[in-house]
Amino acid sequence: MTILAVTELAVSIKTSSRVLSLIKNLSFILRQGETLAIVGESGSGKTTLGRTIMGLLPENFQVNGSVKYYPHATTAIELSGQPKSRPKYIIGKEIAMVFQDAPGSLNPLLKCGVQLLDVFKAHTSESLSGYKQRALHVFEKLGLTDPATVFSSYPHQLSGGMAQRVALALALGGNPRVLIADEPTTALDTIAKNRYLQLLQTLKIQNSLSLILITHNLSEALSYADSLLVLYNGYGLEYGSTATLRDQPRHPYTSDLLEIQKMIDRNQLPQPIPGESPSLEQPLSGCPYNPRCSRATERCRTTFPPRLSLANDAFVFCYYPKNI
Ligand code: SF4
Repeated sequence: MTILAVTELAVSIKTSSRVLSLIKNLSFILRQGETLAIVGESGSGKTTLGRTIMGLLPENFQVNGSVKYYPHATTAIELSGQPKSRPKYIIGKEIAMVFQDAPGSLNPLLKCGVQLLDVFKAHTSESLSGYKQRALHVFEKLGLTDPATVFSSYPHQLSGGMAQRVALALALGGNPRVLIADEPTTALDTIAKNRYLQLLQTLKIQNSLSLILITHNLSEALSYADSLLVLYNGYGLEYGSTATLRDQPRHPYTSDLLEIQKMIDRNQLPQPIPGESPSLEQPLSGCPYNPRCSRATERCRTTFPPRLSLANDAFVFCYYPKNI
């Protein structure tokens, strides 16, 4: 069952001198109970996409297209309008987000327990002692070994890993059905990263969450996601199940990313893809990957390729896809 459907989404930002297109004609779905990883280089539009779904873009951003949330199979709520027009109970309650700099997203002036209590109070009505018991339980569930100390600590008194878990507790405080985690492990060491991602997997099952994992780390995406959306220069170039994209990538960019990942897995020095992603200020005509693509022909340089729709809602935008 679909819980979130993004259709022909386009996001641009208006500066004093020009309009920059950040996300272009993007469509995909998130299914109930799945983990969808959104992968791509820095600047590909991943964080903008997460913030668009949450309605957290500043006023100089222009959003077109549709973002629909399905609280039930037959009910759709449109989220893509101006933030003020959104139903208030959706954001933070039904859909929540852990931000890229999660520790930095905590209020430095309030103790962690007080911050979590504020989230509970926004969504439920209970006695103060009930809230506190619940907060201690949530901290414990998230692997914070001394919940009482964390409850009475300020964010700066915690390690990066602990602060990351407190930020996750705040996001989960409203018991959301969809969680967007934006580069949640960037500041963590390898062991803490794996523990955190395992924790997300456990919570996903225990809380019946649907998860959007925004990451530049393909290895994480391949290990933890059920579906992948590959973003490049604001375009969703390929979407499908993780197993299919891993074993039979259709888009040359997905294939090139996987080759790099294989080198890393073999402890070889990874060879980067030649060239660079086009800048937002000077968009290319045709396929945005054409300067770096070994399959490119003249039509790739002049006209953007059409969408090729595949089984199970998968798609690829390429004139010469692989493995088809
Ligand atoms: S459309 Fe052409 S340039 Fe773009 S990825 Fe496909 S083959 Fe390469």
